[in-house]
Amino acid sequence: MNFTIRTCFTGVLLIACGAAAGTQAFAQNSVNVYTTREPGLIKPLFAKFTKATGVKVNAVFVKDGLVERVKAEGRRSPADILMTVDFGKLLDLVDQGVTQPVVSKTLSKVIPANLRDPKGHWFALSMRARVLYAAKSLKLKSFTYSQLADRKWKNKLCIRSGQHPYNTALFAAYLVHNGKANTVAWLNGMKANLARKPGGGDRDVARDILGGICDIGIGNSYYVGLMRSGKGGPRQKVWGNGIDVILPEFKQGGTHVNISGASVALNSPNKSNAIKLLEFLVSPGAQADYAQVNYEYPVRADAKVDPIIGALGKLKIDPTQLKTILKQRKQASQLVDQVRFNN
Ligand code: FE
Repeated sequence: MNFTIRTCFTGVLLIACGAAAGTQAFAQNSVNVYTTREPGLIKPLFAKFTKATGVKVNAVFVKDGLVERVKAEGRRSPADILMTVDFGKLLDLVDQGVTQPVVSKTLSKVIPANLRDPKGHWFALSMRARVLYAAKSLKLKSFTYSQLADRKWKNKLCIRSGQHPYNTALFAAYLVHNGKANTVAWLNGMKANLARKPGGGDRDVARDILGGICDIGIGNSYYVGLMRSGKGGPRQKVWGNGIDVILPEFKQGGTHVNISGASVALNSPNKSNAIKLLEFLVSPGAQADYAQVNYEYPVRADAKVDPIIGALGKLKIDPTQLKTILKQRKQASQLVDQVRFNN
């Protein structure tokens, strides 16, 4: 910038000045995204956005330390959009003050109220449900999260670490619905039902049900898509097809979901393009893409769901405001330790 202005003032390199100005104009018609999402998942969507709008997307794929990076850059941060896979991480950004509120009729209309910040600091873009994996022989048709603690499942439950964010989010939701005493009893009940030490990944739960180690377990919905589609390889296809999947609900109704989402950065230099991109990401086409590539649920009610996920049944989301759930995550984690869930 300095270089351009200085050389233009000296009256030399006029052609270069014109070219530089052109580049700058182009750079202005862009949007900068910092994201923890997998590049393979989100890059095709950015390409479609550019094709539709002419706005270039500069994506920075960050593994860890998104908040720290944006904070360190401060007012000079080029970030327009901050996008995360986990809701906890998204809320961290808001709590650390690196986001700004935005108003968009489209976003308010398309995204359910419990899946966005009333002030516009964050928006959900896709969802995944925490579901029940079950042995086919059980022929289960419905399930509540409370039933995970029923004594009939003694030595029959498989689950990954109780401290994994997927589980602490579910336990936090249980806390919101049922209070602390009931949650402690529920965690103890589940612990008594464990068929093995909590650990591994969600897909290992399907593997272990098929291997006869357990009868039921908890896993994310998109792993069912990854397994059953064969994207995870032939062995996982057998695991995925070897289990039944039920969308459990809280007694009060609704299935627990976590989200991927985004915020507009506090010092966003291209704010209008940032909002344009968010609105694009909740358009029917982009939402269907989201749903297809990683077997997520669209936040948009009328967007197409992948057939494998659609076959799991109609998802009725827990209507609790996500932020209310997240506020309990720390306590949920403490309770996991208190009952020595992983020991
Ligand atoms: Fe995962």
